Amino acid sequence: MKFTRFTKGSSVYTGVLSENTIQEINGDIFGDNWEYTGQIFSVTDVTLLAPIKPNQIIGIGANYVSKLEDRPSELPKIPVFFFKPISSVIGPEEDIIIPEGIEKVKFESELAIVIGKEAKNVPESEVLDYVFGYTVGNDVTAPQFFHQDGHWTIGKSFDTFTPLGPVIETELDPFAVNVEARLNGVEKQNSATELMIIPIRRMVSYLTKVMTLKPGDVILTGSPVGAEFVGAGDKIECKIKEIGTLRNSFVLSKEQVKS
Ligand code: MG
Repeated sequence: MKFTRFTKGSSVYTGVLSENTIQEINGDIFGDNWEYTGQIFSVTDVTLLAPIKPNQIIGIGANYVSKLEDRPSELPKIPVFFFKPISSVIGPEEDIIIPEGIEKVKFESELAIVIGKEAKNVPESEVLDYVFGYTVGNDVTAPQFFHQDGHWTIGKSFDTFTPLGPVIETELDPFAVNVEARLNGVEKQNSATELMIIPIRRMVSYLTKVMTLKPGDVILTGSPVGAEFVGAGDKIECKIKEIGTLRNSFVLSKEQVKS
């Protein structure tokens, strides 16, 4: 199933997308008690939002190799995780704003996990039972704001730096998909998720040994080789074929346009 959030007029709706229609639903998508309202929308008549308002967003750094032989024989003991603020989330077609003072930022197309059940100390073999579904994320990054002491927080946290969408797909096999990015129509990233260094089950299991994950938590699983710097006017399409394409454009901040 493909869950969406969308607006038409001033109302915000939740729905299930099939083909070109969205059936509105009511209730908690993570519970068993949601139901169809009977109202049907054409996808061309609505504006899609990020398919979820995340509870929290956790990313993992540098998590892909370019070919299977390059996967390290030993995995790092402490993976590089970071948080992104929920205020950085935008939806499909919204503009990514390049912060004042710099002219370029990086796109990072990623498979994003949406947690569906409270998860603490989950063994790797049971991780998928706690996953609600998957969406596409763009972990926009301004490395110019990485602190010299190694902290990434500022460079990952600007408003608009976490586009998500277009839908949450609940029936995805995350081990059988490719994560792609096209910049102005030209392919820049295209890797199978088996090229992840720390695989999904290990990543989520590790996190649940540290913190209790809750429904609505989003985990960005890392970006394939090929992410680049881009500037104002560039258009990025992050894509996982089985989920959809997340399109956004880069613009300068208003402060920069004025100066
Ligand atoms: Mg990333």
